[in-house]
Amino acid sequence: MKITEIHIYSHALPVVDGPYKIASSEVFSLDTTLVKIVTDNGLVGWGETCPVGPTYQPHHAEGARAALAVVARGLIGANPLQPVVLRRTMDALLNGHQYAKAAIDIAAYDVMGKHFGLRVADLLGGVVTERVPSYYASGVGEPDDIARIAAERAAEGYPRLQIKVGGRPVEIDIAVVRKVWERIGGKMRLAVDGNRSLTTRDTLRLSRECPDIPFILEQPCNTLEEIKAIRGQLHHGVYIDENGIDLSTVLRAVGEGLCDGFGMKVTRIGGLQQMAAFRDVCEARSMPHTCDDAWGGDIIAAACTHIGATVLPRLNEGVWLAQPYIEHHYDPENGVAIKDGHIQLPSGPGLGVVPDESIFGAPVGSYG
Ligand SMILES: [Mg+2]
Repeated sequence: MKITEIHIYSHALPVVDGPYKIASSEVFSLDTTLVKIVTDNGLVGWGETCPVGPTYQPHHAEGARAALAVVARGLIGANPLQPVVLRRTMDALLNGHQYAKAAIDIAAYDVMGKHFGLRVADLLGGVVTERVPSYYASGVGEPDDIARIAAERAAEGYPRLQIKVGGRPVEIDIAVVRKVWERIGGKMRLAVDGNRSLTTRDTLRLSRECPDIPFILEQPCNTLEEIKAIRGQLHHGVYIDENGIDLSTVLRAVGEGLCDGFGMKVTRIGGLQQMAAFRDVCEARSMPHTCDDAWGGDIIAAACTHIGATVLPRLNEGVWLAQPYIEHHYDPENGVAIKDGHIQLPSGPGLGVVPDESIFGAPVGSYG
């Protein structure tokens, strides 16, 4: 099989009840990038990548499309049924930019599933659960508001809550965590996500002033070096998110004992092929992890859910979706959505999501 056409689209996703607030930024609308690949036997596959603004990671929407323009021409004639070879081909065309290449990787898995009549989760090793756990991210807010959100989400059935902190005096963040714990206790597992914003001093305070509350600290500081410096003094487990930029860094973090788990983004690590390798490394060292993406619609949501469905249950920290913040589905019938804190695995074949491409308008780039 050969790729004969690649089309790239840009699509705006306004944030419902926005902005969405994390330590480094407020986002009102996200610019997502979709990739459609067409093969010589008429199959079509879709991929997506959507950074949550230009400051969350060193990724941005225009950068994704510029990188895709560089690799797309060189992929005409490539075989989408060979994801490892496809990744190596992309790496030979452009160094880095995994978050852009991930959209091609996801589209190739979609084609592969359609070709073999299998779900992407089956291609990635096999389905462990049809009902994939999700988790809710609170956004940075005031103690009473976040405690109310926590109680609502616990009642909905979410197994896990991520409390966003940072970008303000740490006393407020400590008050938020304490208030949430008072309100919901052990009804949900808790993560406290600093999104790189906390100093080592404030991370130590957060941990020392809440020693009785069983949360994990997610990416509290900006660098692995800062986390390494205070790791032995913390009362809480540490997960790496933004610093987990590739498999090599993941291996370093695991090998040096810098963390107890990961928040991972399918696009950051380079797509589903690399994400499956990451999942297996985590399993080898009993590291819990998420299978998320930064933002995006039904295509990336389906990709995250398919890999999430293959994770060993005791290590599965859930699949975060932007869906609660997005107005519409690309696929009105099989759109991916969270219900009762869980996501039903799409039935496939491939990703199991067929977008109404008319909503994306004309492609911003076409190759082939
Ligand atoms: Mg995070």
